[in-house]
Amino acid sequence: MRPLELVREGQHVMAVCNACRYCEQYCPVFPAMEQRLTFAAADLDYLASLCHNCGECLYSCQFAPPHEFGINVPRTLAAIRLRSYEEYCWPRALGGMFRQHSIGTALALAVAFSVVMFAAAWLNGSRLLEPVAGADFYAVVPHGVMVALFGAVGLFVAIAIAIGVGGFWRDTQREARSKAGAADLLRGLRDALTLRHLHTTGPDCTSNEEERSPWRRYCHHATFYGFVLCFASTTVAAIYHSVFGWHAPYAYTSLPVVLGSAGGLGLVAGPLGLFALRRKRDPALTAAGYAGLDESFIVLLLLTSVTGMALLVLRDGALMGALLLVHLGFVLALFVTLPYGKFVHGLYRVAALVKYSAEKIKN
Ligand code: SF4
Ligand code: SF4
Repeated sequence: MRPLELVREGQHVMAVCNACRYCEQYCPVFPAMEQRLTFAAADLDYLASLCHNCGECLYSCQFAPPHEFGINVPRTLAAIRLRSYEEYCWPRALGGMFRQHSIGTALALAVAFSVVMFAAAWLNGSRLLEPVAGADFYAVVPHGVMVALFGAVGLFVAIAIAIGVGGFWRDTQREARSKAGAADLLRGLRDALTLRHLHTTGPDCTSNEEERSPWRRYCHHATFYGFVLCFASTTVAAIYHSVFGWHAPYAYTSLPVVLGSAGGLGLVAGPLGLFALRRKRDPALTAAGYAGLDESFIVLLLLTSVTGMALLVLRDGALMGALLLVHLGFVLALFVTLPYGKFVHGLYRVAALVKYSAEKIKN
């Protein structure tokens, strides 16, 4: 169950903001709040997923600590957001995983998967420390094993995420004044893909009271679009293999490699930048449990990309087999943590932005 004190805190903060309304131009949270007189738990979840944690409303607030009202909208909404991820996740028993993340747990999981793969490859008689003719990945891990393993994990991940986001959508729609249509879906996607509301009053993000820069936006875009390109690369490679019978490894100029290389560069530059920005970010903006959630996801994205790029460059050498297994260990760790980590924030945000579009609020 959701702690009552967290709901009460959210209701208190929104009641004060609804009376004040000084921040209504900053982002969709405030116009959406103004549509409501009372705030049920699902309303707070919706508003929390509209918040990009830019910080602007904290630094503008005359009721922020040390004022006795203690209003800190980004922190309160971050706490509610994290709690909503835990409550909607499936299976519900795994909700506690959202607070267990750290760089250490991410690395331990990836290493554990890699060790299991090394053991399986060794038992299978795969040659791991000598060049493999034609840099054939499937001589190390058979194609059928790869498809069965990642297909099963991918299916579970897709089901878990669909159930979680579906529950969030269902609950936030209960009091919906108007149904979302295709135009709202497109607008929500556009706003999410462009980070339109990251800092509505200007081109820059706030990470500190005195400091604004566009780098949080840039690094987020590099990370997200890098991820999309890598996904596209894998999809094209799967089509090459299963439809045309063209087997990996592919030439450096082929579409899967070009897409994967561009995506890989984005997934190195973006996470490194986000990691550096986190060091400078005001801790007052975030809630307990968020640091590990952010950092474990960033590290898994970064190291999945680094090991993938290393595999691409060194695929004709003696280390190809070992690098492949390490890379697959990181990919698997990234995959299994998708429904229980920071990845879900993008899907909840799209759902909230679609609902926001359906509410037809002018801003
Ligand atoms: S965050 Fe502070 S200044 Fe902004 S609307 Fe709320 S109470 Fe007013
Ligand atoms: S932190 Fe930024 S995005 Fe979140 S409510 Fe405040 S102004 Fe809006």
